[in-house]
Amino acid sequence: MAEVHSIALLTCHGKKSALSDPLAQAGYTVFTINHFDTDTLGTFTVEIPREGTMLEAARRKAKLACELSGARFGIGSEGSFGGDPWFGITGWGREVLVWYDAVEDVEISAFVQGSETNFASKCVTQLNDAINFAEAIGFPQHGVIVGDPAQAVYDKSCLDRDSFEASVELALEYGEVNLSTDMRAHRNPTRMKMIARCAQDLAARLVLHCPQCASPGFGEHAPLSGALCIACRRPTKQPRAVLLKCVRCCFTSEKPLRSEVAAQYCDYCNP
Ligand SMILES: [Zn+2]
Ligand SMILES: [Zn+2]
Repeated sequence: MAEVHSIALLTCHGKKSALSDPLAQAGYTVFTINHFDTDTLGTFTVEIPREGTMLEAARRKAKLACELSGARFGIGSEGSFGGDPWFGITGWGREVLVWYDAVEDVEISAFVQGSETNFASKCVTQLNDAINFAEAIGFPQHGVIVGDPAQAVYDKSCLDRDSFEASVELALEYGEVNLSTDMRAHRNPTRMKMIARCAQDLAARLVLHCPQCASPGFGEHAPLSGALCIACRRPTKQPRAVLLKCVRCCFTSEKPLRSEVAAQYCDYCNP
């Protein structure tokens, strides 16, 4: 039986349910620190920030979880939402998780993205339009926020149709109302699934141990170019392998992908 570690999570949005099972498979029992309001770290924004910004935010939460709990291991989660990277039309979600080891001062992260999000907003002037929007995004299982902080009504608390209609009708007395999907994890089962997918990727990495120092998280670091052109045998820019690297001792090894590629990728045969 492998050793089981405790790992600390700062949360006020119920993310533990998405993280517990995948991390248990990697030998970690998630416990939450509930006396800390993660909203004070800043809530996610509507624009898609750079991946680096998300990574920094998740790292900050993981380290803070260790500091506040005294635990060796902490986990931090951060998400962002916006339009898809190609046309900006379809909703697009991104999730980052950071595992942090306070003793070794090393981290391992996982990142997933995709169109599986209900991220949307709409400005309405009639109750019927509001009801149609709410139904389309999966309310009441998925939360809807009525109004925004600059408007007279700003309500994140609607849990059923009656309270939603009452809130919209009140807001409509002041003019048009902005409606948006609630992206807080506990009010967004679609987002919760994406966090779980990210946790599975993280867990898959955590169970791989470095061949040299046995630290967890021995995994893909960067692609290595140089697959050979099938026609002229010269190296191309296409990846021939991925570099695996240990975050603790920096030991590396290569995982071969393919030795040769079609001549269309060759700068010599197909300039
Ligand atoms: Zn060639
Ligand atoms: Zn190592």
